Amino acid sequence: MNKGLIIVISGPSGTGKGTVIDLLKTRREFSFSVSHTTRYMRTGEVDGTSYHFVTREAFEQLIAEGKMVETTIYSDNYYGTSYAAIEDVIATGQDVLLDIEVEGGRNIRKKYPEAVEIYLLPPSMEELERRLRGRGTDPEEVIRKRLARAREELAELRDGKTVYDYYVVNHTVEQAASEIEEILNAENRSRARRMALPGQLLNGESIK
Ligand code: ADP
Ligand code: 5GP
Repeated sequence: MNKGLIIVISGPSGTGKGTVIDLLKTRREFSFSVSHTTRYMRTGEVDGTSYHFVTREAFEQLIAEGKMVETTIYSDNYYGTSYAAIEDVIATGQDVLLDIEVEGGRNIRKKYPEAVEIYLLPPSMEELERRLRGRGTDPEEVIRKRLARAREELAELRDGKTVYDYYVVNHTVEQAASEIEEILNAENRSRARRMALPGQLLNGESIK
């Protein structure tokens, strides 16, 4: 049995990652990697589902215990992915999807070179700002920091400091989710994941 795919989705805050991922959840089977964070809980978020919301001390304890695959500081808060969130899932053959920023994407790539990394782009910087403000969940100072961070991430992509496998532009949620599905369907047909097939035919087996 193949291990599940490790799917990384990154993109500027407000580009629509969470919204597109929510639609994807209704269309295919995967486990969402619930990250740990020290940031405040937004209205509508659920502890243990959106994130594991923890204190700075608890987060540092997890790092000291070697429980985290990757961590980053984003807008003054810790965010990170635990080994449990990935390993326990892919071992069962299920896909796991991570919504993380680019430093995390780079670190996941180092540990799991086979990860499929997708960067979700907004249609324009103006639309990004509109979405970030329209969400209505963050104070002005946080919004400004996030827009600045978005520019930094885009510059890293432009300059090749960060490399993603695919760019998807989130014009509409439906279109972006469909394009991500197409990518994942193609990845499941890759040589790396179908390595065993020629040998199976030669052994007289039928391919299911
Ligand atoms: P992220 O997870 O990338 O920070 P969200 O999923 O929270 O972004 O989306 C930010 C805001 O943009 C939300 O209010 C969401 O409803 C809106 N949004 C997401 N995708 C689109 C889209 N394709 N067109 C218009 N608005 C969108
Ligand atoms: P938000 O506060 O909007 O939920 O997330 C802020 C940023 O942190 C987003 O770019 C999101 O993708 C990223 N993020 C969320 N969880 C993790 C994580 O576990 N690791 C890393 N590196 N980034 C994360």
